[in-house]
Amino acid sequence: DLSKRLSRVKQMIPDNINCVADIGSDHAYLPCKICLERPDVKAIAGEVNEGPYRAAVKQVEAMELSNRIDVRLGDGLEVLSPEEVDCVTIAGMGGTLITNILKNGINKLSEAKALVLQPNIDASSIREFAIEQQYEIVNEDVIEEDGYIYEVVVLTPSDGKISYSAKEIYLGPIMLQSKNEAFYKKWRHVFEKKQSIITQMKQASEPNHEKINQFEQQLTWIKEEVF
Ligand code: SAM
Repeated sequence: DLSKRLSRVKQMIPDNINCVADIGSDHAYLPCKICLERPDVKAIAGEVNEGPYRAAVKQVEAMELSNRIDVRLGDGLEVLSPEEVDCVTIAGMGGTLITNILKNGINKLSEAKALVLQPNIDASSIREFAIEQQYEIVNEDVIEEDGYIYEVVVLTPSDGKISYSAKEIYLGPIMLQSKNEAFYKKWRHVFEKKQSIITQMKQASEPNHEKINQFEQQLTWIKEEVF
């Protein structure tokens, strides 16, 4: 069965889509599960590395889904042709890598109604991408599995002007409206870690005041929202 993390990604895919690309798909567990549950949906599993690519091909064959899931070897969105997909999922990578993959292939996203993204770290870089490229953040979640905490962020293209405050970029505009247990846990943990980092930074021979100020601002936001 899918991990709790990938199940949550799957649940956050909108109903009205026909073709999903899962980029960095590894064993293609996510697209396989999507296609098994939704007979009307087709998928593309993209992988840049041989090993995971072959694992994906094998899994898709084992599930007898080769007619509906195309497994492709290549970097990021380059495996897609323009307008081919109406949803993209990218899970289990850092937020900066996810953002770079999206930026490098932005012309492949013209028909994408939703980007369902699950960064392991640096979710804020995805929110910055949303502002830059005019996507609206329509859903977010923080989940815990096996002692790890993950964020999921869902973007949809927007006509209007999108803007979020620095605090919303850091903590998540939707999460701030719907804080859950994992959210509190994550940010209490970040708070403690950041506090001790600041203490160390202040003891440096040439303290980086800009960085210290930035971290202290983040501590203030966490204090306002979490404690
Ligand atoms: N998405 C799966 C999940 O969430 O369980 C697998 C996550 S795995 C940690 C990350 C995968 O992304 C690896 O299999 C890696 O080969 C692939 N990957 C990394 N950079 C990529 C890129 N630029 N394009 C396609 N795949 C990439």
